[in-house]
Amino acid sequence: MKFVVTLFAALHFLSTARGQSLHHEELVSARDPSTTTLSRYCSSFQFNAEVNNFVNGWLVPGECVSRIKRYIEKGQYAADVEAVINQARIYVKNLTVTNEAKKAWVLDIDETSLSNVPYYRTHSYGATKFNATEFNAWVDQASAAALAPTLSLVKELVSLRWNVIFITGRPESQRQVTVKNLKAAGYKGWTKLLLNAAQTNARMTAMAYKSSLREGLVKDGYEIWGNIGDQWSDISGSAAGNKVFKLPNPLYFIP
Ligand SMILES: [Mg+2]
Repeated sequence: MKFVVTLFAALHFLSTARGQSLHHEELVSARDPSTTTLSRYCSSFQFNAEVNNFVNGWLVPGECVSRIKRYIEKGQYAADVEAVINQARIYVKNLTVTNEAKKAWVLDIDETSLSNVPYYRTHSYGATKFNATEFNAWVDQASAAALAPTLSLVKELVSLRWNVIFITGRPESQRQVTVKNLKAAGYKGWTKLLLNAAQTNARMTAMAYKSSLREGLVKDGYEIWGNIGDQWSDISGSAAGNKVFKLPNPLYFIP
């Protein structure tokens, strides 16, 4: 019953997922040029996006595309990813774990383990509506590169015998291309790859199904010590993990 209620709440919220039914102005307040410079407006947009303050989700405002492009392409994005992963590395080094067999790290895939920046480069850096057909065509190429710091951390975790568990919003139908892409990008030795079996036309939110998958892991005895994602929906909800790490993503929002 609880699941059904969650599902309906999720479906309701999905009407705004990735800004598909609201205008930009209803998601992100328009800029008042008499009081706010473009630079400050876009900086505030990026801040609010990263800390998850937008009530109905967001799309990148058109006038902020050049800022987001600069952020992604000129090194700050890579530096921020590196800084987040360095904290995860410090955390893991200082852990005392007793249940070695069931110690687990959960990682998201898109914009956490694999980078879709080449796709967003040709899709206005997030300023246009999400196009599932075009995005799936990109995913099917299985050519996304790893986020290098994440790959490096995963290699360390695997060598330390952690259970590395990928949980992704990609549908089960993309399992083969996802495995192919993960391997091509350098990932190996993971314990599980959990895709979204429930993802149909009437999708539930990422937060709801990722929570249910993590609850399943805990039921199977796994202890989730760390969880890394680029969306708040990766790292909130139930069984989120003892410590979560939020990677930057100013390109898109998934509820
Ligand atoms: Mg992601």
